[in-house]
Amino acid sequence: MALKFVRTFALIAAAALAACSAGSGQGAPAGGQVVNLYSARHYDSDAIIYDAFTKDTGIRVRRIEAPADQLIARMKAEGDASPADVLLIPDAGSMGLAADAGLLQPSPLPTLEAKVPAYLRDPQGRWYAVARRARVVAYDTAKVKPEEVATYEQLASPRFRGKLCVRSSDNPYNLSLMSALIERWGEAKALAWAKGIVANMARQPSGGDIDQIRAVGAGQCEIAITNSYYYLRIAGSTAAEDKALVSRVVLAWPSLEGRGAHENVSGAGIAAHAPNKANALRFLNYLLEAKAQATFADATNEFPVVAGTAMPARVAKYSAMPADPLPVSSYGQYQARAQKLFEAAGWR
Ligand code: FE
Repeated sequence: MALKFVRTFALIAAAALAACSAGSGQGAPAGGQVVNLYSARHYDSDAIIYDAFTKDTGIRVRRIEAPADQLIARMKAEGDASPADVLLIPDAGSMGLAADAGLLQPSPLPTLEAKVPAYLRDPQGRWYAVARRARVVAYDTAKVKPEEVATYEQLASPRFRGKLCVRSSDNPYNLSLMSALIERWGEAKALAWAKGIVANMARQPSGGDIDQIRAVGAGQCEIAITNSYYYLRIAGSTAAEDKALVSRVVLAWPSLEGRGAHENVSGAGIAAHAPNKANALRFLNYLLEAKAQATFADATNEFPVVAGTAMPARVAKYSAMPADPLPVSSYGQYQARAQKLFEAAGWR
């Protein structure tokens, strides 16, 4: 029901945007500056950042929200008539696909390059990470020892037959994890790993990462693959059941080839045909300013990209944990192969 509402709203908003573009030629309504944001983020608290941006700059943020693949398909269909100014997706693989499809324009700005480490941005400057997250493991401390979940290989080992919970393989977070594994291990080992994960599933994949963590809490599985911020969201909750959950279920930080955990990002880039390019640049810069960076940490429990950002203790505890410095811009090229290997492994 909620999803249907969002989709319906998106269609209505799209019609409104199209009307505006046709009328002004600039995509800006009469009586104010605007930036048209195509966002695949699904976190209500993002409104904090957008409202602050409008307050600080006078530029209104008009949002179209949909899953990454739908936004990309839409921008392709809209072509040079697209009203999109900024594309924002919480997955590096999807940002890579958008860049490769020519949907983003280079904005190699020294200010952004100074703030965002090279491994967290597109080398051509078509998009930049604005927040980081790790794809790690939540485990039941009553059943699992931390040294049993110290690497990604171990998650696929017979130790966890029938004891692992993970979401479906068409999810971008899993596709980008698999992309990183293909890059680090090659296809044969990545496929063997996926087969091991399928053999270890306690149940057919269903729900999101939060559901997997709760399934560990409910005793349905011993370990769950999850993005770090979903666990930290529960850790930041004051509800008694959540406090009980995080007292028993904790995060492990598996290492990929001794380098650290698989990291993914929320990325943002300026649309190839942005009608409000100056506003888009301002918005992109804003996402990497101290206030927005602190909001990503505080409100969505993501790790900041910019060094020195203020963050709550629960986020700071993990923000500097070892992360594999594989360039996140490499994930896009492996997405199709990752999907094929998942299918071959029987990961639904
Ligand atoms: Fe998410």
